[in-house]
Amino acid sequence: MQNFDVIIIGGGFLGLSTAYQLSKMGVKTLLLEAGDIGGGTSASCSGRAQTCEGHLDPLNIQIIRDGLARHETLEEELGARYDWRKIGLFLLIRSEELWQRWQERSAILTPAGIPTEVVDRVALQKAEPNMNTSHLLGAAYSVEGMLDPLKFSLAYANAAQRQGAVILGRSKVTGFEVKNHQITAVKTKNTVYRAEKVAVMAGAWTSKVTRMAGVSVPVHFTHAEALVTERIPPMIYNNVELADFYETIHGKAKAVAIGVHPQLNGTLDISEAVTTTDQLHKGVSAWGVTSISKELVRLYPSLEKVRIVRTWGRPTSFTPDEEPLIGWVPGIDNLFVGTSLVITITTVPLLSEWMALMIQGKQSPVSMDEYSPTRFAVPAL
Ligand SMILES: Cc1cc2nc3c(=O)[nH]c(=O)nc-3n(C[C@H](O)[C@H](O)[C@H](O)COP(=O)(O)OP(=O)(O)OC[C@H]3O[C@@H](n4cnc5c(N)ncnc54)[C@H](O)[C@@H]3O)c2cc1C
Repeated sequence: MQNFDVIIIGGGFLGLSTAYQLSKMGVKTLLLEAGDIGGGTSASCSGRAQTCEGHLDPLNIQIIRDGLARHETLEEELGARYDWRKIGLFLLIRSEELWQRWQERSAILTPAGIPTEVVDRVALQKAEPNMNTSHLLGAAYSVEGMLDPLKFSLAYANAAQRQGAVILGRSKVTGFEVKNHQITAVKTKNTVYRAEKVAVMAGAWTSKVTRMAGVSVPVHFTHAEALVTERIPPMIYNNVELADFYETIHGKAKAVAIGVHPQLNGTLDISEAVTTTDQLHKGVSAWGVTSISKELVRLYPSLEKVRIVRTWGRPTSFTPDEEPLIGWVPGIDNLFVGTSLVITITTVPLLSEWMALMIQGKQSPVSMDEYSPTRFAVPAL
């Protein structure tokens, strides 16, 4: 039997950063991760600290702007380098309707502190001379952050441990003991742990985990495949994504939303082929790799002969309204949930601190009530 103030379930960006914040605040924290640290979705993502693609409500704009600012000093705070850098982002515009929409978004984002502009095809071609822009009207342009997602995960894990947190990989939670609407024990195969509070930060697995405690939270997921190329001489200078990324993938059984991200080591990280599925898995498909490759070569014809070094797939979680899910779960008094941030890397340094305060029963500096699970029906099973 082992006793803690807080047990966090899930060793991705959310769980690790919240474990760091809690332990820094003097809270005795245990983190249980089913696989390797970061081995869920976090360490396998593209590493973009997105800026201009989020919802336009005031809270979302604030957490993106202030979260990005936190990154400027976070490597120093965590005592580890994770290749933080700034890079331009072009969001490709393929229709008049999108052109208009991004003009309107830019007019809101720029004065709010997230400078964004719409550029025409000539300007895009000048910035990315190797891109085939023939099917494009132009792009929305902004500056965003980039990092190495595995190093970022490990930076948080190591910093949390230095603050006294116990971080256990290969420790899958297999069940809970629940009495009088309280989780009284968290079970792994070989050990039973106790804590006053339990925080489920299990990404796409969140709903599966809370179900073991008898409550169902509305966390869904899509499955995304990505690939990395061999090293090539520099020929892509900015991150490139679709301006209608979410419309392109959501509600479709299968869709490709091409994203191209030049890496420091000369490779290209290319995302993503997305499948709607009820299976949580880490696999890839012939369809995914082929479809991404076709879109890549359409956009950059000179990459036709470039070799793919590795492919992978991971689930990404989202809620029905595509807003984060953060707060106490109705029906179980000591169960907190944090997941589906959407713009995750940018906001996690800030939101992890706010979540750590909430878990202790304190106020976060800005209310996150709009992200509370109470906005959905959370049925007891
Ligand atoms: C291809 C791809 C590219 C992406 N690119 C970006 C990007 O550039 N920028 C960005 O911000 N976001 C990106 N994302 C999304 C981002 O990766 C996720 O939002 C983020 O990783 C979620 O972090 P998390 O901590 O919530 O979940 P995870 O990292 O999935 O962590 C949850 C953990 O819970 C663990 N777990 C599950 N069940 C149990 C259990 N029973 N017991 C113990 N542990 C358990 C899992 O093993 C997992 O490690 C991308 C996603 C994909 C798939």
